[in-house]
Amino acid sequence: RAKADGTAVYRFFSQQMEEQLQSRRNLEADMRHGIRLGQFEVHYQPQISLKTRRIVASEALVRWRHPQRGLISPAEFIPLAEETGFIDTLGEWVLLQACRDALGWPGNIRVCVNLSPVQFRQTDLVGTVKAALATTKFDARRLELEITESVLLQDNAANLDVLSRLRSLGLTIALDDFGTGYSSLSYLQRFPFDKLKIDRSFVRDLESRPDSFAIVQSIATLGRNLNMLTTAEGVETQAQLDLITKAGCSETQGYYFSPPVPEAEFRAMLDRQSGTVTSVSVA
Ligand code: C2E
Ligand code: MG
Ligand code: MG
Ligand code: MG
Repeated sequence: RAKADGTAVYRFFSQQMEEQLQSRRNLEADMRHGIRLGQFEVHYQPQISLKTRRIVASEALVRWRHPQRGLISPAEFIPLAEETGFIDTLGEWVLLQACRDALGWPGNIRVCVNLSPVQFRQTDLVGTVKAALATTKFDARRLELEITESVLLQDNAANLDVLSRLRSLGLTIALDDFGTGYSSLSYLQRFPFDKLKIDRSFVRDLESRPDSFAIVQSIATLGRNLNMLTTAEGVETQAQLDLITKAGCSETQGYYFSPPVPEAEFRAMLDRQSGTVTSVSVA
């Protein structure tokens, strides 16, 4: 009996696993198909200088407009794209799109593009980025690449070399989600990042937790002393804005100013900004 039951349970699970696997395969095929059909979109979220209160840059964030499922967030498909290697194709597409879009913005507005740690396994990531800049004729100095610390965790020496070669193209490198995961200050000695993006989790409870404020303030100070900009992510309220300003951060990105929006909407924000002499509210 026991054996029969065990077999039944095994069949049940293996059927479930088979279904899960099949649904992932379908999603993967949908992604590869979807990019050719133009179903992916890049949205932009403004980054605001706390000193001037003006938009200085925006982060490119990919979305998938699925014909049946509607707008899908990257949290749902980036992990699968990473597991299947599709991230190389998608990442290159986002980079090209971001450079093309930013060509139409004022020359002092920069664009930030996320790089997955998986893309560092490419044999010629530097060549890919260089080619994207050449194809679009986009000024490398207006491009920032965002990486997470996992890039430094893996194959350190090789990835550090890639980062240095990327930076020598003239672009800047930001360390994303700083303060989470295995964050170690030694990363900051291994590579001269241009910017630290302070993870949203510290900003979220700034009002209720004095220790969060102390951490944000310490990162801002660290950034200043190491000659790096600091961007506070996920600012949603005036109170949070006041606190990150008090903490000495240099920039902010969050729903308080604007969520990620389609390119046309971001361009409209820039138009409103250049039409205004004093500081703007982009919200
Ligand atoms: P990330 O790079 O840390 O991007 C910031 C995320 O925080 C975005 O989520 C943004 O919409 C969200 N966010 C910004 N301000 C606020 C706020 O005030 N409140 C809240 N609750 N959230 C805020 P999104 O667009 O869903 O992207 C999630 C993650 O997906 C990104 O985190 C990034 O890791 C990844 N991702 C997005 N686009 C790309 C891409 O083109 N390539 C790669 N490799 N990863 C991407
Ligand atoms: Mg990012
Ligand atoms: Mg982030
Ligand atoms: Mg993230």
